[in-house]
Amino acid sequence: MTMIDLPLLPLGRGKDLSAERGVECPGDLPPASDPDLVARAVAAKKALGDKVFILGHHYQRDEVVQFADVMGDSFKLAKDAAARPEAEYIVFCGVHFMAESADILTGDDQKVILPDLAAGCSMADMARLGQVEDAWDALTDAGIADVVVPITYMNSSADIKAFCGRHGGAVCTSSNADVALEWAFAQHGPETKLLFFPDQHLGRNTAVLKLGYSLDDCIVWNPLLPNGGNTVEELRAAKVILWKGHCSVHGRFSAEVVDELRATIPDVQILVHPECAHEVVLKADLVGSTEFIINTIEAAPAGSSWAIGTELNLVKRLANAHPDKNIVFLDKTVCYCSTMNRIDLPHLVWALESLVEGTVVNQIQVDGETEKQAKIALQRMLDLPGRSHRD
Ligand code: SF4
Repeated sequence: MTMIDLPLLPLGRGKDLSAERGVECPGDLPPASDPDLVARAVAAKKALGDKVFILGHHYQRDEVVQFADVMGDSFKLAKDAAARPEAEYIVFCGVHFMAESADILTGDDQKVILPDLAAGCSMADMARLGQVEDAWDALTDAGIADVVVPITYMNSSADIKAFCGRHGGAVCTSSNADVALEWAFAQHGPETKLLFFPDQHLGRNTAVLKLGYSLDDCIVWNPLLPNGGNTVEELRAAKVILWKGHCSVHGRFSAEVVDELRATIPDVQILVHPECAHEVVLKADLVGSTEFIINTIEAAPAGSSWAIGTELNLVKRLANAHPDKNIVFLDKTVCYCSTMNRIDLPHLVWALESLVEGTVVNQIQVDGETEKQAKIALQRMLDLPGRSHRD
């Protein structure tokens, strides 16, 4: 069995080019103190014209978002990029797995650029291909791999999506996880089991709260332990095998803070993302994807009060856009996604000015075989019955 081969690199400085964890960004960046950064970004974008298309994830900083041609979640942005074949350069202001998905879904002649290679995703890093293959071997030894359907969250590396493509599985987002799980459970009749990664919380919340399975039907696979920390009997009895991964942002929200806010803000409604822990989701009024959170706040009446459990850049943007509503953050401390925040204005200016000079920096390229197999898993998601496919 392969133990975790490297610790997470919270500062994003490593040499593992194939990982989500990020690597050194070798650029000669302008200093963050340069007062002309905004003017330089405007000029570079204008010089590139229709050749460049800038994507901005909802969790990005405002200083970057102001230059985005389109905003959205990771899957929407990848599809938006695919719908702009005339754009030679896709600059993805997001994290590494998102740029990979954009590269998979865009044409061969389009180049996807991540302004800072250190912008990875700690959740995606928690399921590495070697670990997942070891888990599959263990399920094979336990005699159950034939009835296990692997489902990966969009927030995973391309090689994990390709693994699902190879083994009869699919990708899901937080909007369609319930439909994806229903599809998966129909694959091998009543004996079917699921292996869900990398986010145990999305898997558990969906299986229990949307599909009606019990917590006892779900077991956790810890990649650091033999058999994931389970006996063979436990593996055979489980319906859902949840990979021991989580989002470092959404995992911070606690049930205690929900109780405190309910006690201090009259009629507050708690609105959270399904990457939050099960006990937080149980205490929330509404649970849904990033797009669901945005749409809920836009439709909320003036004067209503909301505590939102998702990334802080988005919560602040919603609060600023809706001054007639009382919007607070569902945590006592600052809670940005540290890897998302690595994309800042100096990196964006450097990437754009390099393109103006004819140099493509930080291109994200998925190899042909991985792309082919990942597309199979993505296509199975696209073929799921009626639901918008957003995370
Ligand atoms: S918010 Fe969580 S899932 Fe999204 S990129 Fe950051 S660590 Fe990954």
